[in-house]
Amino acid sequence: MTVRRTGRPASPGVGVGPAFVVEGRRLAVARRPLADGAAAAEAEAARLRVAMAQGREQVERARDRVRERTHPTELLQVIEGHLMLLQDEAFERAVLQIVQEERVNAEWAVRRVAEEVREALAASGDDLFRARGDDVSFVAERLVRNLAGLQAEALADLPPGVVIVAHELSPVEMGVLAGRHVAAVVTEAGSRASHTAILARALGLPAVVGVQDLLAHVVSGATVAVDGSSGEVVVEPEASELPALRERARRLGDLERSLTVERDRPAETRDGRRVTLLANLEFPSEVETALGCGAEGVGLYRTEFLYVGRSRPPSEEEQVHIYSHVAGLMAPRPVTLRTFDLGGDKFVTRPVVAGELNPALGLRALRLGLYERDVFRTQLRAMLRAGAAGEVSIMFPMVCGVGDFRQALEVVREAADDLRSDGMTTGRDVPIGCMIEVPSAVVVADLLARDAAFFSLGTNDLVQYALAIDRANERVAHLYQPFHPAMLRLIRQTVEAGRAAGIPVAMCGAMAEDPLALPLLVGLGLERLSIAPSAVPLVKAVVRALRMEEARRLALAALDLDTADDVAAAASGFAAGAFPELLDGRSCDC
Ligand code: PEP
Ligand code: MG
Repeated sequence: MTVRRTGRPASPGVGVGPAFVVEGRRLAVARRPLADGAAAAEAEAARLRVAMAQGREQVERARDRVRERTHPTELLQVIEGHLMLLQDEAFERAVLQIVQEERVNAEWAVRRVAEEVREALAASGDDLFRARGDDVSFVAERLVRNLAGLQAEALADLPPGVVIVAHELSPVEMGVLAGRHVAAVVTEAGSRASHTAILARALGLPAVVGVQDLLAHVVSGATVAVDGSSGEVVVEPEASELPALRERARRLGDLERSLTVERDRPAETRDGRRVTLLANLEFPSEVETALGCGAEGVGLYRTEFLYVGRSRPPSEEEQVHIYSHVAGLMAPRPVTLRTFDLGGDKFVTRPVVAGELNPALGLRALRLGLYERDVFRTQLRAMLRAGAAGEVSIMFPMVCGVGDFRQALEVVREAADDLRSDGMTTGRDVPIGCMIEVPSAVVVADLLARDAAFFSLGTNDLVQYALAIDRANERVAHLYQPFHPAMLRLIRQTVEAGRAAGIPVAMCGAMAEDPLALPLLVGLGLERLSIAPSAVPLVKAVVRALRMEEARRLALAALDLDTADDVAAAASGFAAGAFPELLDGRSCDC
């Protein structure tokens, strides 16, 4: 019987093939009290060390496989992260402490520690931290399986052309897929920012994630069609549907190849308006991917990943090395370093303080920087020093108004004075800008523009704060509406404030990657977009299909519409007329 489900489109393309169902659900773990005496706890410690050593071997094998077959740097980085956890003495100590103090088995203690870390990261309210929390769980599940004597990788023997169907896939399991002939990936868990999604994009595999209630309807061998652009998954499609699906898969393959060929042409509208396309990076290793995709610089380097999952913040020297490396590889192209956007209590592997009640409204981002002033000043010193290596700018996340922005500028001045008295050079003057991602910053954008060298609109958070919708809460995901008329007005107000003050305004939120939103954004006057490296070729093609005058008319008309649905309909209609060949069945995610 045909079953249809819709999930989150995670990686574009269409794949059709026989299902390969991965039994990836968590093993049941019992709490087993230990026998009296030191020997029982020591035996558990020995079992844990063996399981960790086995885990390291397994992950190293996956890493070598990825290195041999392909070069998705994001994937290697994530796999290295798993290896680091498997070597992390703090993690091992935390597990053994529970074993010894509570006299319980190692499996139980592993799960407990992993749950605590995961919950703390999830409490940040940020999809990306949630994904890092998932890493800790994946490593814990590997350890639990090893402790239970189940060491075989589920994906070791994979027939070619299959659609992988799983509740959830770990990055290492995704690594096992590298270089294999896989038609598509579909999972019940995950969001667009989860590792499965990020890695599927890196590996160029069509993928849909967050598909509810799927596994109950699929057995291995059943035909499954996955549309990674629309999010549609069909189990046992009608025979009459198959030719059209296969034809779409072929057309999408052709489109991707043609976009890749065009990637070095300028992002310029048909009537000559130049749009600068920059890359959003999380790891230094992504610089090459970004350049390979045709990015003209880095518009957002999310530095918080340097701080996550470790017991101490990174040292100044470590940071100087990383930032200078990125700036040097990109030079003479610009690199915008964002100061850490961390939620509360993210500096330790094992949190000691419970999550905040409202973490998205709590001690996050710039507020945390101003609170943890020494850690913040160290980061700013490193960023200023990296200014000598290239065209570095600095920006602050979650600026709310002139008050907090000036306090942050004051810490920059302190850091620069310290550097001078330490006899260190900082190179040229480093421009300092602010992210515009809190509605209050939009309202006072004209005031902020007096002190800021540039603005960058963070729509991921701006939607969340303007519409009062938690960006990570699946239950209100349908109300997370970048096409809301309020968003268009907030963007316009920011662009106008920047223009009046003569400072550049960029956008680095995911809205800037959406082909349906692009005509509106260009029409509203945005000329700098910072997006995921893999999105650059498509966004470039969309810009090249636009005419400035038409985009402007669309934006003006949209500013007068009543609802997000009305704006989405106008945007879809425009896109269908202007660049139908680039849409590949995409619908408004609004
Ligand atoms: C944003 O909020 O749009 C943004 C780019 O920052 P982040 O997604 O890292 O919060
Ligand atoms: Mg943000």
